[in-house]
Amino acid sequence: MTDKEIREFIPTKFKIVNHTITVKIEECGSDDTLIKYGQWCMATTTITLYRYLLDDKGNEIPQTKEQLMSTFYHELFHCFFDFQSWEQSESDVQALSNMMVEYIDTMVFE
Ligand SMILES: [Zn+2]
Repeated sequence: MTDKEIREFIPTKFKIVNHTITVKIEECGSDDTLIKYGQWCMATTTITLYRYLLDDKGNEIPQTKEQLMSTFYHELFHCFFDFQSWEQSESDVQALSNMMVEYIDTMVFE
């Protein structure tokens, strides 16, 4: 997906408790040992989404729209939890992310 396509559903910036959060899109954060979908950094108040993952042969596999949305919400929940100093686990954050993506995908306005 191009930056323009991704930016139709992923913001560039937003505010949480008066801190500006920047959302960057980078090419690839994975290496031989770790597949990285995205990252939240409290120090720089930045969410980074990676456009490509790497398979076991080193091929670049583009994240789908659904994966990018899920990754964005996953990192957003890390952000929320960190600002409130709430305990968090990867499974809690991923469960919330999955529910948020399903919620957005299934909203009906009648
Ligand atoms: Zn995580």
